[in-house]
Amino acid sequence: MRHPIGVVAATASGRTAAATLASVWPKEVRVFAADSVADALREAFRACEAVVSFLAVGATVRILAPLLEHKTTDPAVVCVDESRRYAVPVLGGHHGANALAERIADVLGCTPVVTTASDAVAVPGLDELADLMGWPIEPGSDLAGVGAALLSGEPVTLSGDLTWPLPALPPNVTRVSAPEPGLPVIAVTDEDLAAGRGLVVYRPPSLVVGVGASRGASAEEVLETIDAALAEARLSPLSVRHLASVDAKADEAGLLAAAERRGWPVVCHPAEALARVETPNPSEVVRAAVGTPSVAEAAARYAGPGRPLGELVVPKRRSARANPMVTVAVARHRGRGRLAIVGLGPGARDLLTPRAVAELRRAAVVVGLDQYVDQVRDLLRPGTEVVASGLGQEEERARTAVELARAGRAVALIGSGDAGVYAMASPALDLADEAIDVVGVPGVTAAAAAASLLGAPLGHDHAYISLSDLHTPWAAIERRIRAAAEGDFVVCFYNPRSRQRDWQLARAVEILAAHRPPKTPVGYVRNATREGERVVLTTLADFDPAEVDMYTVVLVGSSNTRIVAGRMVTPRGYRWS
Ligand code: SAH
Repeated sequence: MRHPIGVVAATASGRTAAATLASVWPKEVRVFAADSVADALREAFRACEAVVSFLAVGATVRILAPLLEHKTTDPAVVCVDESRRYAVPVLGGHHGANALAERIADVLGCTPVVTTASDAVAVPGLDELADLMGWPIEPGSDLAGVGAALLSGEPVTLSGDLTWPLPALPPNVTRVSAPEPGLPVIAVTDEDLAAGRGLVVYRPPSLVVGVGASRGASAEEVLETIDAALAEARLSPLSVRHLASVDAKADEAGLLAAAERRGWPVVCHPAEALARVETPNPSEVVRAAVGTPSVAEAAARYAGPGRPLGELVVPKRRSARANPMVTVAVARHRGRGRLAIVGLGPGARDLLTPRAVAELRRAAVVVGLDQYVDQVRDLLRPGTEVVASGLGQEEERARTAVELARAGRAVALIGSGDAGVYAMASPALDLADEAIDVVGVPGVTAAAAAASLLGAPLGHDHAYISLSDLHTPWAAIERRIRAAAEGDFVVCFYNPRSRQRDWQLARAVEILAAHRPPKTPVGYVRNATREGERVVLTTLADFDPAEVDMYTVVLVGSSNTRIVAGRMVTPRGYRWS
């Protein structure tokens, strides 16, 4: 086994940086030293999956050049300069060096200098596309040829099973129903198709192989039967998502060993669930033995409660030997659309999480309020479709996002703060069903952003209350304010006041004031972490609701909240303060 990261340094500064890497990644880093630094570098190159060289790029290249074989087998190499300003992926950019340079940059505070073409122009390279989707690429695919066409803006066609939620692709990629002669092709297919010049074949995980086996069937018999079924139907084993069977077979040694040999997961379902799946070849003998009339065909088609069934593409076939017997069937499952619900945080770019950025770049369509879309437009990949709409169209935005996901697209539905707090997540999920995948990315909500500016007002129990009575009757809102007042909660008021709703905040504060002293701290923040941010700390007695608008969040302390050195503090526990 090769070591994950070998580090080589020649100078005191390099050795200090090497020691830093070794201390932050103790399980991965091994520092190489030898009589000559060239020997140390050569040794690290032979023994590691990646090498960090604190030598000049030129020196590193001269030493390693005679050892280079192929980018897929050579270790990734990153050089870091003497004054630690830059981390330069020198070899294997797409095979770990770019990613390692980013990690080193985070630790050493330097800048990664990425020179591989696709990253430089923010177009997804073909490898990266595979990484994003997690799909294998058919060996022999012309990544260099098609990748070059993709980057230089020449026409490239995309064909095959396009129900999969691909990320945004550059505008020179056209979807076609069948490959056009002469044009480079990116194919997404489980069909047995030899890759070659001008053709890149992605293998989506579309196939589920259902397996039934009598006790004692060997791994060889299982694999032979599966391979024969796939070959007969001209399907690629690279598109097999998993093997599926019935719960009673979850410990069948031959099945498990076969799956492990190919790296396929095994998924077993309850007999009752399989019994409800319609199949062409049910058997009463099988029903009597395991509780479902079909194992292989039903398990191949079944995708989980409420999820659409796969289409049977290879009906049940038996192993060559009858005892022990193996049965195999194959079903094709369509891609599932993907709905990412992404909170953008309160406004500042550095409060937008890296995960939110990754989801924005994973999406083919971004749906949101126009001002939020504008806030992140620079992060979207070229070719990303934008569906922006105005205030008040929440219902329609939610519907659009869900419909696009149901059509198989990769959708990001965005909202400020956290997208689940008085925002788009619930209207969207109210409409969504099991046919789509949903990914939530939490964001820093307004109350949290405001609290950090005010001090520590949320140190003990608190309530969020929206004062918007557009969709909630005022009586219900008032009941909650009363309960929060009686319960002595710190209260965060969202949507506190607008031109049309100008009396509610004063009324809310009046209710709270009946239960807590006039000197109770009140903090409010307008445009937290955005341009024009305004932070005000006052008391219930002095608070003027007219100062507040819809860009403001208001935090009213509990009877225990104090102002300490100009900061709003709610004690963590009332007994120890
Ligand atoms: N999903 C958002 C809240 C949407 S409701 C979140 O989690 O923050 C809209 C209300 O949130 C506004 O009326 C205001 O009260 C509050 N708000 C949102 N962003 C804010 C910010 N940057 N500064 C102050 N208040 C904000």
